[in-house]
Amino acid sequence: MIQGKQLYEGKAKKVFETDDPELLIVSYKDDATAFNGLKKGTIQGKGVINNKMSNALMRMLEKKGIPTHFVEELSERDTLVRRVKIVPLEVIIRNISAGSFAKHYGVEEGIVFDAPTIEFSYKNDELGDPLLNEYHALALKLATKEEIETIKDYSFRVNEALKEFWLSCGVTLVDFKLEFGRLSDGTIVLADEISPDTCRLWDSKTHEKLDKDRFRRDMGGVEDAYREIMGRMEKQIGED
Ligand code: UDP
Repeated sequence: MIQGKQLYEGKAKKVFETDDPELLIVSYKDDATAFNGLKKGTIQGKGVINNKMSNALMRMLEKKGIPTHFVEELSERDTLVRRVKIVPLEVIIRNISAGSFAKHYGVEEGIVFDAPTIEFSYKNDELGDPLLNEYHALALKLATKEEIETIKDYSFRVNEALKEFWLSCGVTLVDFKLEFGRLSDGTIVLADEISPDTCRLWDSKTHEKLDKDRFRRDMGGVEDAYREIMGRMEKQIGED
């Protein structure tokens, strides 16, 4: 696979063309941002961890019937993915109150919900990714009704699979963000990444945070948390 010209550089990844118009290479960086890019920093080794973790989780989800953009891990930081047009919706699933949910509704973090919640935001940095509902998404023609149904179905199935996997690693999946894309034939597939940048992951016993909240909230031990969560995943995958 020949790496072609850089198409795009995002906050945490670069994307390159390849000699196949249907395939792209994603390259994970150590750069970290939070609060819509207002806070910037570096998390040493993050790119390698997020690349490996996201690929392992997407392989697992494919086995459970969720189509993803994942094709092949090319190196520590680089992965071959199917080219998609990203649906401009960020999907957030929550199992436990935290972050913006706790803030918006004035509740403490750590309330375990009877059933998971789903919310959408409009993926638009200039507007600060505003929250919207399905009717708004339809009005703005961000996706069709059928696509939204597919995205909801996949998102809840991803939640069940990830919750079970992380539990087996002694980790509680609090919440996470997903992005979906359309292949050239319009098929919806899971895209972007699944990593400690996009999930809240707490140690099941101590509730210690093993995710990007350590960076967002200046808690220290950021690199150690990423290494710890990766170590737990590798141990678990090794035992399977
Ligand atoms: N999240 C993300 N990217 C975003 C916003 C949120 O990956 O632009 C993830 C975040 O890591 C968390 C979940 O989505 O796992 C819910 O985030 P929340 O709405 O609580 O926002 P935050 O408190 O992170 O601003």
